[in-house]
Amino acid sequence: MAKWGKLSFAQKKCVSTVGMLMQKTEMIKDGDRIGIAVSGGVDSFVMIRTMLIRQAIIPFNIELMVLHVNPGFKPENHKPLSDWCRENGVASHIELTDYGPRAHGPENKKKSACFYCSRLRRKRLFELCDQYNLTHLALGHTADDLVTTFHMNMIQSGRIQGLSANEPFFQGKLNVIRPTLMLEKKYIKAAARQWGLPIWDNKCPSNDNTKRSEINDWLEQEWRKMPGSRNNTFNALRRWQLDLNMKTT
Ligand code: SF4
Repeated sequence: MAKWGKLSFAQKKCVSTVGMLMQKTEMIKDGDRIGIAVSGGVDSFVMIRTMLIRQAIIPFNIELMVLHVNPGFKPENHKPLSDWCRENGVASHIELTDYGPRAHGPENKKKSACFYCSRLRRKRLFELCDQYNLTHLALGHTADDLVTTFHMNMIQSGRIQGLSANEPFFQGKLNVIRPTLMLEKKYIKAAARQWGLPIWDNKCPSNDNTKRSEINDWLEQEWRKMPGSRNNTFNALRRWQLDLNMKTT
């Protein structure tokens, strides 16, 4: 038996769906050094677990490193992550910041707290990729994020835009990848529970209180009115995004 043991249906779904996306978009190649951005939530934890299995399966060498930028609401929050990385032999850079409180303070007069905080965190992650000479930054967005983002862009900005699975930054020096973009959250949650991953709650006052959660609740409400509409929306947007990424890679 493989060293990760027997996988459940949800765990296999995570590993195979990530593998399919990687292959179809030619996301990674031999020698790549991938930083995995981990927030401590269920999505990013399943992403590390799945990427470690993919690393063992693929016929070439890649290196993985966990990057965690704690937004600063609960400084001890990341202890389970540092313990998990140590126990599983995964290289990591874990850093405590004050980005969350600053995003909710007087320094941020114009933007939403999440916009400000995410921008600071993204900037820091880019700096860390440069510092560690990483070729890729992996973000744990899911198919649910793709669907919500697509609707947010359309409703709020009049734009048709989803989330790219593979996007070059800094003249191609760094690729931002989203390996779990085709995976639905229900499989991620089940896989995380079965793997016993040490997930922690986000103690930020803006958590679950954003425009994103509002649009998500509205979509769920609409889907309940028409059987099959949720699946059809997910399938259509996944196919559309995959097609875009396959054409541009
Ligand atoms: S929920 Fe809080 S920690 Fe998360 S991005 Fe928004 S402001 Fe930052």
